[in-house]
Amino acid sequence: MTIDLEIFSPVHQIKNKLFDERDLFVYTKRDDLIHPIISGNKWRKLKYLLHEARLQQKKHLVTFGGAFSNHLLATAAAAAKFGFKATGFVRGEDVDNDTLFICRLHGMNLIFVDRESYRDKQGLFNRYFGDDEQAYFINEGGASAEAVRGCSELVAELPQTYNHIFCAAGTGATAAGIISGITQKHLDTVCHVIPVLKNGGFIGDEINKLLLTPAAYQLHTEYHFGGYGKTKPELISFIKQFVADTGILIEPVYTGKMFYALYDLVTKNYFKPGDKILAIHTGGLFGLLGMKDKFLA
Ligand SMILES: *Cc1c(COP(=O)(O)O)cnc(C)c1O
Repeated sequence: MTIDLEIFSPVHQIKNKLFDERDLFVYTKRDDLIHPIISGNKWRKLKYLLHEARLQQKKHLVTFGGAFSNHLLATAAAAAKFGFKATGFVRGEDVDNDTLFICRLHGMNLIFVDRESYRDKQGLFNRYFGDDEQAYFINEGGASAEAVRGCSELVAELPQTYNHIFCAAGTGATAAGIISGITQKHLDTVCHVIPVLKNGGFIGDEINKLLLTPAAYQLHTEYHFGGYGKTKPELISFIKQFVADTGILIEPVYTGKMFYALYDLVTKNYFKPGDKILAIHTGGLFGLLGMKDKFLA
């Protein structure tokens, strides 16, 4: 049986006076619509890892994440859908939250490990599942050559060409996939990568390691809003305005920062009249309700 991930991800135009005044055409690729709770890019990142697991006749996916990890959630749901057992090593002490609840509901077995042990992922895998020939190691966040290949397919789905493509980056694997997709199609589209972590320069090194063919892209490291999972009032008010104006939900960890960067660069007249700009909506909405307090403050 092959792994058929049923990708449904249309492109929608976003209308706004800001864009009209500058003669810009802004669109978003709705990877958030691929699955109601799974980040679209996590689905794409898993596709070829699942293929590989199947090929090697593995029956048990073993992976790693924090207690709010979109990747754990995606692995749990994908394992259930495609008939694998799943184990997630969770960093930190035993907790319960909505993400872990949904992981468990999909049948994922969770093992909580202290931060020290968590660092040595291969060691944990060997210790717990070294004898289990059916266990398949998937790195934290799914970052891998397979993930890059899965994400590169996004570019082949696009209905037209764009001058600019924007995407948020945590590990940089999704961005590397999009950049590879652009290279494979010989497009002169510029990929703009928005690291959501502080000191995001290292994302550039990660991307360069993951690219099979070196390629140019733009890294914008000044939109982290204090670091991973951190927000600022201007980010929250931007998100409120964006959702109310467009009817498209975004969240503060990834897509909010990416769209903020795009709008900020538009305001600063970074783009040329007539430019077509595509923002990848990578999803990640599951954690939004857990962040309600940030919107009330
Ligand atoms: C994980 C995630 C990203 C970042 O993907 P990387 O490949 O790790 O850079 C972006 N957006 C959302 C919603 C995510 O869940």
